[in-house]
Amino acid sequence: MIFTTDPAFAKHADDNDELKEFRKKFIIPQRQGKEQIYFLGNSLGLQPITTNAAIKEVLDQWSYYGVEGFFEGEKPWLHFHDQLTGPLSKIAGAKPAEIVVMNHLTVNLHLLMASFYRPLGKRNKIICEAKAFPSDQYMLETHVKHYGFDPAATIIEVHPREGENIIRHEDILQKIDEHKEELTLVLWGGVNYYTGQLFDIKNITKAAHDVGAIAGFDLAHAAGNVELQLHEWNVDFACWCSYKYLNSGPGAVAGAFIHERYIADKNVPRLAGWWGYEKAARFKMEKGFKPSPTAEGWQLSTPPMILLAAHKASLEIFDAAGMDRLIKKGNTLSDYLIFLLTKINQDNIQILTPGHKGCQVSLLFTKGGRQIFEELSRQGIFADWREPGVIRVAPVPLYNTFEEVYRFAEVIKKLSA
Ligand SMILES: *Cc1c(COP(=O)(O)O)cnc(C)c1O
Repeated sequence: MIFTTDPAFAKHADDNDELKEFRKKFIIPQRQGKEQIYFLGNSLGLQPITTNAAIKEVLDQWSYYGVEGFFEGEKPWLHFHDQLTGPLSKIAGAKPAEIVVMNHLTVNLHLLMASFYRPLGKRNKIICEAKAFPSDQYMLETHVKHYGFDPAATIIEVHPREGENIIRHEDILQKIDEHKEELTLVLWGGVNYYTGQLFDIKNITKAAHDVGAIAGFDLAHAAGNVELQLHEWNVDFACWCSYKYLNSGPGAVAGAFIHERYIADKNVPRLAGWWGYEKAARFKMEKGFKPSPTAEGWQLSTPPMILLAAHKASLEIFDAAGMDRLIKKGNTLSDYLIFLLTKINQDNIQILTPGHKGCQVSLLFTKGGRQIFEELSRQGIFADWREPGVIRVAPVPLYNTFEEVYRFAEVIKKLSA
């Protein structure tokens, strides 16, 4: 698509957008009867209009059947999970049996670390990105301490080079090679939450495997945003949350991927609970844990049906829109935003996000950032502010428009002049 700075371009792009009807499937926040511009789908995605009814269905089932709701009714809760793994497998690029919906992101990271962080002798080191999301840092730090290791000596971070903001792929590979004798795990992000940098999951996985290490990913900012082919890329495990691009509500139930080569292997160590037991025999309540031969074998507890219902309402929209079309529009929206900002050509704005993959664009303001952010809020534009001067915005393909991107760039232009 060839962009221009003419506002007619935005209108034309919206009119011709194959996905334009999808905006009507969401509740757009309003102030004084006016729809706001919501660019925070990377933080908490908006509510599908069908979520309310989906939750009510569970409440009604509970009202009528009580505990029998697990076995009775149109959608017995016992099998509810099966309705989620299909749509999610397309988002993750996985087989349905490799997907499990459970818990929350940080919990799942801990659980999969219990399975896949297997220090042996001097092979105990972990490579991760510098300035990973705090929860990931704390998860790694405490997990390593749990084994009695010193986090400072065990967790190796890869930094951007001096004077640069993003991490070079070759530096990741170099660090993996440098520590090849002692490395057991590479735990990396899909898209960095701060800079919006998309990492090369396929080749990081390959590099880890080449030195005999496991490759796990935190896909919080990648799931529902960028192309994922977790099965084909041979990723060992991955986790994500569902409240960001996946629009499943605050504190939504999270997801995890475990590669097919492990799912039926009863010898993979894990922390177990009754819900991970072989499904057909779960209620026999027998001694001795026999895991379900799919990723469901990592489940611990009775699933949160209300959260699963909200998740399903959103996944149905993803299924109807299709990841290919969503990725294409998401990339185009963020490219358009970068194009407009580049035309403004102000030396107080630095675009941190490299390339044009995914929805998020992070802007570093060398001066006046805070005032610009406050003015954006006054103008009804939801963006987010991170010290020292970063404004993050994510125009998402399901409910944002080219015109909204244009209006955002106009505000920046006026205020930067
Ligand atoms: C959003 C996010 C989290 C949040 O974890 P929760 O357990 O869902 O609160 C963790 N890691 C990354 C990389 C994130 O972007």
